[in-house]
Amino acid sequence: MADKAKFQAIKGVRDILPPESALWNYVEQTAREVFGTFGFVEIRLPIMEQTDLFARSVGQGTDIVSKEMYSFSDHTLRDLDGLRAQFLLQDLMFWLGPREMEEYFKALRSLLEAFDRGLKEESALGTEWNMASRERIGTLTHQFEHAIESIGHAENRDLLDETREELKRQVESLRVNVLTLRPEATASVVRAYIEHGMQVQPGNVKLYYMGPMFRRERPQKGRYRQFYQIGAEVLGTSDAPGIDAEVIEMLMRLFERLKLKGAVLNINSIGDKNCRPAYVEQLRAELQKEREQLGADSQRRIETNPLRVLDSKLESEQGIIAKLPRIAEHLCADCRAHYDEVKRQLGLRGIAYQENWRLVRGLDYYMRSTFEITAPGLGSQNAVCGGGRYDGLVGLLGGPATTKGIGFAIGTDRLVLSLQEAGEGGTTGGPAGKAVGPDVYLAWFGAAAQSATIGLARRLRDAGFVVELPAVEMKFGKSLGLADRLKARHAVIVGDDELAAGVVTVKRLSDGTQQKLGEPELFSYLQAF
Ligand code: AMP
Repeated sequence: MADKAKFQAIKGVRDILPPESALWNYVEQTAREVFGTFGFVEIRLPIMEQTDLFARSVGQGTDIVSKEMYSFSDHTLRDLDGLRAQFLLQDLMFWLGPREMEEYFKALRSLLEAFDRGLKEESALGTEWNMASRERIGTLTHQFEHAIESIGHAENRDLLDETREELKRQVESLRVNVLTLRPEATASVVRAYIEHGMQVQPGNVKLYYMGPMFRRERPQKGRYRQFYQIGAEVLGTSDAPGIDAEVIEMLMRLFERLKLKGAVLNINSIGDKNCRPAYVEQLRAELQKEREQLGADSQRRIETNPLRVLDSKLESEQGIIAKLPRIAEHLCADCRAHYDEVKRQLGLRGIAYQENWRLVRGLDYYMRSTFEITAPGLGSQNAVCGGGRYDGLVGLLGGPATTKGIGFAIGTDRLVLSLQEAGEGGTTGGPAGKAVGPDVYLAWFGAAAQSATIGLARRLRDAGFVVELPAVEMKFGKSLGLADRLKARHAVIVGDDELAAGVVTVKRLSDGTQQKLGEPELFSYLQAF
């Protein structure tokens, strides 16, 4: 007989199992509480967005957008892509004869029909760009069909070829709605902020979110393809340094409450559009000089994103990086003043930090304040949180250009890992909640006892106890054995004798002591634990 297929979770994703899931809940609940005290409220965002949202905000040159996104098209688009391939094939055969020409126009018409259907169903994009292409294709097709009929097949071939070429270009440029599983959530928060006109709300809009993100990275400890983030964003017209400091304070309070040990706050300023471009050019020029000594990634980044070279952990590049120009020495007066005030505001809050001139953010939209928090026990992936200011992003995505923003994202997987490494209740309850077993195991014997324990179980649960009620009757020894194996704290035994006397037998499983109690006494006894 053939083996039955055994399914496994796909590479880079994982199950979060009990009892670890209790620690996750505890971390998330604590974040809700701490963020709530700073006036943040939750936003629940979709897991997928239009690909263009990330391409525009995170940036085309970033690793995330260029190679790590999970993008896909919905089914109408797949039709369209198939039809596009069909059309291109017919295009190649166009001049073979009248039959082929006919097929060419047929393929073009099917493709346009599919596209128009897609527009209705919103699987094709009704953007200005697309609509212009669509219209141009319509006009060209008409002209083209007409020309073929009126001038005969071999005449004026060059002109017809030109028209065909343009048709081909326009058809290739028709964009359908490509979707992406979110690689991060700031872009979605900003999209939602703009879509729902949140700028009319008084004061700053303070939002937090939590949930899975998706990036096709090489999996390793602390780095997954589906990972989780808890993040927060402040959006509004002010970019006061006190906002930056308070956001960081909120983070540090959370880590304190979670008893995360050894967390180190790194800060930097990466300037703004006035001072950064000149610095980036200087950096690029310096890197060009050392090009041959750099690894392949850094060589590529000289063009795409030279700031990211500073992030490099490659041993062989460290000597070169140490001699590169530093952004702190190239900040304009406004950025310098902003940075100095952020540091003063952190001081007012008693928050210790390290300045780290190499701290840059991988995403294009960051400016001025950037920060990262590292924690022990994580190996090379030791950043538990990254964040920074992104004043231009709302404008870039079509919202009010005056809106400023700052935020952070905590890597929940890494935070949990670090707490576990430090022994903070990762597997046996601890701050994560109660120990693993139930408070009460209800051992019942006989039909009358079963009906009595159903009611008792309900009353105990209403009072907040964790109750295990066996669904089928078992022999005494087997039932109590199961209570032990489940690590129950108490077995409450109900049989005919107990029913007749109006009591239950309660046995403390840690030491075997037992006694008979009426229901009110049972509740007081359990509550005393
Ligand atoms: P980023 O959105 O890249 O600024 O990342 C913010 C935080 O998310 C990082 O500091 C990590 O803690 C976490 N993170 C990013 N990528 C991953 C990943 N692939 N697996 C686990 N955690 C991640």
